[in-house]
Amino acid sequence: MTLTLYNTLTRRKEPFRPIDPANVRMYVCGPTVYDFAHIGNARPVIVFDVLFRLLRHLAAEGEWDGGKGETKVTYARNITDVDDKINARAIERYPELPPTEAIARLTAETTEQFHKDIAALGVLPPTVEPRATQSIPEMRALIEALVANRHAYVAQDHVLFDVTSMPDYGRLANRSLEEMEAGARVDVAPYKKGPMDFVLWKPSKPGEPAWPSPAGIAVPGRPGWHIECSAMADRWLWQEPQLKGVLSAAGLARPHVFDIHGGGIDLVFPHHENELAQSRCAHGTPVMANVWMHNGFLQVEGEKMSKSLGNFVTIRELLEEWPGEVIRYQMLKTHYRQPIDWTGSATRQARLELIKFSRFLRGGWKATSDEISPSFRDALEDDLNTPEALAGLHNLLSEFSALSHDGTQQEARLNWLVNSMALLGFHELHLFEQRLIESKKLDKERVNSLISSRNAARKAKNFKEADRIREELKAMGIQLKDAKDPETGEIVTTWEVMR
Ligand code: AMP
Ligand code: ZN
Repeated sequence: MTLTLYNTLTRRKEPFRPIDPANVRMYVCGPTVYDFAHIGNARPVIVFDVLFRLLRHLAAEGEWDGGKGETKVTYARNITDVDDKINARAIERYPELPPTEAIARLTAETTEQFHKDIAALGVLPPTVEPRATQSIPEMRALIEALVANRHAYVAQDHVLFDVTSMPDYGRLANRSLEEMEAGARVDVAPYKKGPMDFVLWKPSKPGEPAWPSPAGIAVPGRPGWHIECSAMADRWLWQEPQLKGVLSAAGLARPHVFDIHGGGIDLVFPHHENELAQSRCAHGTPVMANVWMHNGFLQVEGEKMSKSLGNFVTIRELLEEWPGEVIRYQMLKTHYRQPIDWTGSATRQARLELIKFSRFLRGGWKATSDEISPSFRDALEDDLNTPEALAGLHNLLSEFSALSHDGTQQEARLNWLVNSMALLGFHELHLFEQRLIESKKLDKERVNSLISSRNAARKAKNFKEADRIREELKAMGIQLKDAKDPETGEIVTTWEVMR
């Protein structure tokens, strides 16, 4: 099989061929850093981490350079650290600090939290993680270019993108400009020529972050929402690789264009539509990226996640209850393009399946080759079909006992299993059950103290209380086993993690 990926731009699955066989280049829109990341934000981070790992695996196998295995994979995932929500939250949190310091403090703290959370989910750092505020000169340069070639105009100290200047504006979102204009809100800012024109740069109010403006605007300003990604993608996937000489002639032949652009489905419109409009019109290219990939949305217990509904789940909260691999596994049980309903019962199911792997590999297994399971590979190469890939690994477990007489076959299966799970970001799985016990969810001391209370309740013939405690432990995933000690006749209670 060759890798095929669903492309939002063409609305079909296509075989993936990098522009440059020496360097596969991918950009993914990262978080806006003003608060703990929620479990929905974790979805693109995990999905594109799996794609990053798969691309690296295929690169190392020599998939695109005739077997040499020297292809680089450059993955850029940005941090959005300039935004209205950030400004508001910074002033609220640090009223005593000047706004710029408050913003710097809030974004630094939130970025650190984000890094800790996603590291616990087994996510690799991307090749580069640019911050919007460090690419302001590149944004200004793009805006100057757009004004110079008449794709953008200045009005009341704003710079706006003129969408009528781009004949196929709306192609990614699959909507015509007429349709979009018909749906546009009536209270369109008076300085816009057309209702769908969007802001590239705007003047800063007192207290807001401000930089010298482009296009001859005298008052200081700040970037609009979309321009940062156009600037950072071009810098890190075109300008820097070009400077470092890590692009081959094939890569240089299509200036500015890169391979894969990703993010959540909510970003298709307006964010990605506008990003690609800016980039294409500034550079005069037919596309910004060849393949556009979008993960489906995540809901919680059947409802849209929102603070007011009280079902807003942060990664941090989940990590207080579960080892990160449970969350990662649960995420990968659904195909990335499907919507996902995040439920407690699915989390418990993910835990059970990982326990199964953990018990199977109980003694630990050091792989003796770097092979992965062929069916697993086919599933991943088929538009990153992680549920099918995982189902294939479960099949391996079931087949295994039938091979008990064949050591070579068994060894191959064990290698496949360990290497395939590692490709998905799961390592040292034989220790998983131990990690589960050590995680807060299975606080050993708490389990033992509950068992003592239950024994005491039973001695006092308070069976109702004893049953209540048994149920409480069950809810924590603990199965009790009562057995009579043959010598003393006393009841001894042991426990294990529920299967
Ligand atoms: P934001 O911080 O809101 O800009 O979002 C960062 C990333 O998370 C983007 O790729 C979003 O598309 C994605 N995202 C946000 N909410 C969800 C959700 N509920 N389900 C899936 N992806 C989401
Ligand atoms: Zn973006």
